[in-house]
Amino acid sequence: MTVPLSEDHARALDAGDPLAALRAEFHVPLHEGREQAYFCGNSLGLQPRGARAHVEEVLEKWAHEAVEGHFRGQAQWMPYHELVAAPLAEVVGAEREEVVAMNSLTANLHLLMVSFYRPTAERPAILIEAGAFPSDRYAVESQIRFHGFDPATDLIEVAPDAPGGTVSMAAIEQAIERHGPRLALVLWPGVQYRTGQAFDVAAIARLAHTAGAIAGFDLAHAVGNLPLRLHDAGADFAVWCHYKYLNAGPGAVAGAFVHARHARTDRPRFAGWWGHEAVTRFRMGPRFAPTPGAEGWQLSNPPILGLAPLRASLDLFGRAGMAALRARSQRLTGYLEALVRDHLDDVLEILTPKDPAQRGCQLSLRVRAGRDAGRALFDHLSADGVLGDWREPDTIRISPAPLYNHHADVLRFARSALGWRQSQ
Ligand SMILES: *Cc1c(COP(=O)(O)O)cnc(C)c1O
Repeated sequence: MTVPLSEDHARALDAGDPLAALRAEFHVPLHEGREQAYFCGNSLGLQPRGARAHVEEVLEKWAHEAVEGHFRGQAQWMPYHELVAAPLAEVVGAEREEVVAMNSLTANLHLLMVSFYRPTAERPAILIEAGAFPSDRYAVESQIRFHGFDPATDLIEVAPDAPGGTVSMAAIEQAIERHGPRLALVLWPGVQYRTGQAFDVAAIARLAHTAGAIAGFDLAHAVGNLPLRLHDAGADFAVWCHYKYLNAGPGAVAGAFVHARHARTDRPRFAGWWGHEAVTRFRMGPRFAPTPGAEGWQLSNPPILGLAPLRASLDLFGRAGMAALRARSQRLTGYLEALVRDHLDDVLEILTPKDPAQRGCQLSLRVRAGRDAGRALFDHLSADGVLGDWREPDTIRISPAPLYNHHADVLRFARSALGWRQSQ
């Protein structure tokens, strides 16, 4: 049965869903007086309406309490990062002490590699996916060099072997087995940013551990997109940002996870005073005594203004619940997939896996006619108020976010793309 290109049908798909009402909690940018069909939550999530009040609370507190804002009244700055830790732990499936909001993603990746990438002459290598996000690749390569090893031999990249540039579990397994004795670290994405492929974090952690390596994860495109169970999955560490599906604003303070089994590790780390035990921090002693758990990796007192919007977003995740959000996400992305398959198959190839278990909300759509046609289609969509994002050389990424996208947005995408095809 073909999915109809009907607005009544699209509206009916949202009608019975209480989560559809959460769109009203966000600012949706306008295009010619009408709300955009915004599909860039994989890049910068929309602003929760509640974010402003949290930012203003900090500004007010600063104006009226100044330094005493650290330890007086509501939402004190000294323990401010703790306000987000419990809801964040919920979103990533961790214990409260396994997560911390701090720094930025790439900085956290470096800090955790300082502790969890400890290469030796026998075991110097890091395994990542080929075509990793550039920042991750730069970070990994520079760490290998920093330790005096050579990325040419010690950075192992697993090439895509499956349709759409995706990587099969078998390929990952083979690479880990083959290089096992030389692997210090397996660093893998939760969701690959270009293809939208989602990976089984627990299975990859198991394979890495069996090989005697550490299992680290970059969850930039997974957090707030997929239900995660980092503790049970056994990941050693993970890092992510909060400006994508977590809607905490441009350059928002990022996140990190360190498994409870490392809570009191004596591994080396780069230390700072905010990682020192809170109870004795202000004795200002010369000897560093880390807070047990992820908070022990903090360096500095955090940018409170950069953390404030995250509280608003986490409130919404708490209200919705990750399981319900995921169910809605699968309906939205399944609808997008069906519309493309039934009406746009001659224009767009879906690179993202068809198996819902192997993807989050994003579909990566390759424009069959190539780069120039792809750019023209992308511009046509944008001029219609349909905002996806463009990846060279020929791919449009469309990510319906279950917190604020409606089925009608997805329909607008399909209709606009069809309008472009008919004008060709
Ligand atoms: C978005 C993203 C980044 C961005 O890094 P920042 O340090 O936040 O600038 C890095 N890696 C991946 C995989 C990403 O998706």
